[in-house]
Amino acid sequence: MSKALLKQMIDANYPMVEYGKGVWLYDTEGRAYLDGSSGAMTANIGHGVPEIAQAVARQMEKISFSYRTQFTNAPAEELADRLAAIAPGDLDYAFFVNSGSEASEHAIRVVLHVWRERGQPGKQKILGRERSYHGMTMGALSMSGHDLRRKDYGSLLHAFPAVPPSYCYRCPWGKRPESCGMDCAEAWHEAIQSAGPENVAAIIVEPIVGAAGGVIMPTTGYLCRLREICDENNVLMILDEVITGMGRTGSWFAADWAEVVPDVLTFGKGLSAGYSPMAGLLLRAPLVESMRQNSGSAPFGHTFSNNPLSAAACLAVQDYMIQNNVLDNVQARGKELEDGLRALARKYSFMADVRGRGLLWGFEFVSDPATREPPVAAKAVAARFGELCFDKGLIVYPSGVPPLNNAILLSPPLTITADETATLLEILGSALDDFDAAGALAI
Ligand code: PMP
Repeated sequence: MSKALLKQMIDANYPMVEYGKGVWLYDTEGRAYLDGSSGAMTANIGHGVPEIAQAVARQMEKISFSYRTQFTNAPAEELADRLAAIAPGDLDYAFFVNSGSEASEHAIRVVLHVWRERGQPGKQKILGRERSYHGMTMGALSMSGHDLRRKDYGSLLHAFPAVPPSYCYRCPWGKRPESCGMDCAEAWHEAIQSAGPENVAAIIVEPIVGAAGGVIMPTTGYLCRLREICDENNVLMILDEVITGMGRTGSWFAADWAEVVPDVLTFGKGLSAGYSPMAGLLLRAPLVESMRQNSGSAPFGHTFSNNPLSAAACLAVQDYMIQNNVLDNVQARGKELEDGLRALARKYSFMADVRGRGLLWGFEFVSDPATREPPVAAKAVAARFGELCFDKGLIVYPSGVPPLNNAILLSPPLTITADETATLLEILGSALDDFDAAGALAI
């Protein structure tokens, strides 16, 4: 192993991945791992799909790179057209960057630019949520309510997170969903009013809290109410679909089932399914009209923006999803995964609040199911459970923000078969058995 490659845990021994096939990853020692998290919710069509390699090779023989101020290119043009066609409402324009973090950064630039173009340059604040994650770059992290990832950057970050998430299992207002009056949505109105609507450019939310919370589902009608609150206050709405976009929850976008059309929708991860770095934004037509009628420009981008090679990979991934009815598979396998997880939760009282949609599922560990008391943070149960699963050949995504840090996220490739779903649940069950036997949740 190289001494030069800096790794997350500098002296840890990571297995060396050799190749992947479908939901399986193989290391150089010949060990197999079922990719129950698609890496970081990314490998949506599984690994080693030959059609994608062929499409990328064909594109590479033509042109791999061109610069966006000098040329446009056919794969990026087609990808933008296709995304605009499947996106809800008048999200008619797309722009591509290289990572979800850059998509978040661009969302900031876009909304500030639009307000400048509309003669309201004072609108510069973005309001976000506690327990959220929008990326590691400074602007994206400024919008993220992720204390662990924020803590080292102090005054470099803006205090944008302003509102608790919609989190019924641990409702900050202590209410029940049936009779709550949706305080979690109304809190946005108060946050915008206290910042001054004349200062607020946009709000940003993940439709389902992903890495920062372990799949926290919004209460019904929450996102629609946010849309109304934005309109009432003349504030734009950014929906971060970096995890939920491109089929993960059973439709192309979470915005489809939430029946909401944000002003800016960000996507990443599953767009290329990991075959080549690519992420981006969809913008509603009125935003682009404001730019067209004023400066006539959208002055943002990177060297690799709208990259033809990555766009070719994304087109091939989308073709594959359509030809193989992958969205139907998400519904069918999602139901099996849900049923299996609920059965496990009935068996293990420390496994609580199974929640999710499509092939994005999460649950929490609790020390006491009656009080919903989480295990003490120092026990790092989510991380330890993740390691246990990894040793058994199943990859899960430990998730959570201190002080909870107690959630597990499951998000296998959307192409997983029924047999593979059963295998995933079997290994998960065996890890839960071991966890139970070791008294891992004892206070
Ligand atoms: N938004 C969300 C919702 C994410 O989960 C992530 C990454 N986990 C990002 C943005 C940032 O994406 P990237 O890591 O590709 O920069």
